[in-house]
Amino acid sequence: MQTIKVLFLDRDGTINRDSGSYISSKEQIELIDRADEAIALARNAGFRIVVVTNQAGIARGITTVEEVEEVNRYLYDLLAVRNAHYDQCYFCPSHPDYPHPEYDRYIDFRKPATGMVDLAISDFLKEGFEVDRSASFFIGDKTVDIECGLRAGLRPVLVRTGHNEEALCYQRNIIPEFVADDLYQAVTGYILPGG
Ligand SMILES: [Mg+2]
Repeated sequence: MQTIKVLFLDRDGTINRDSGSYISSKEQIELIDRADEAIALARNAGFRIVVVTNQAGIARGITTVEEVEEVNRYLYDLLAVRNAHYDQCYFCPSHPDYPHPEYDRYIDFRKPATGMVDLAISDFLKEGFEVDRSASFFIGDKTVDIECGLRAGLRPVLVRTGHNEEALCYQRNIIPEFVADDLYQAVTGYILPGG
């Protein structure tokens, strides 16, 4: 079986600008400067790309599964123009404060829980690829991203874009391995030079 390494990426605030609310249409998608270039460089270096995003706006009735899927497809196409497309994208529709008969079964998907990462890894396994967690990274702008990466045995990197929860991470003792100004710096200044 072939072993692979993966960049698990948060979406809002890491790849595209965080709108401050739930993104429900492609018009709200604006890439963070050089995020596409960073992903393309990581792909060229052999990383698989998996997007892992909490989308509780679905359980809250602010957006729908169909809208989130359409936004994800749009993001895929936007990234693909620069050879920066993702391999898989997983989103969590549920929220503990907004019970929903259909979405509650995905509660273990909600970051900082590791359900989406575990599913991605088992999906790769079905295709004959074993993910080397110790050579894989989780990059995001929030404490939940860092905590998810730590719990999943991945190497967590915080970016100062989006919500930039750097202070909160240290306050809560959820310590990233590296803090970068943005995804481009994380990839070119830390991950690709060999961490
Ligand atoms: Mg985020």
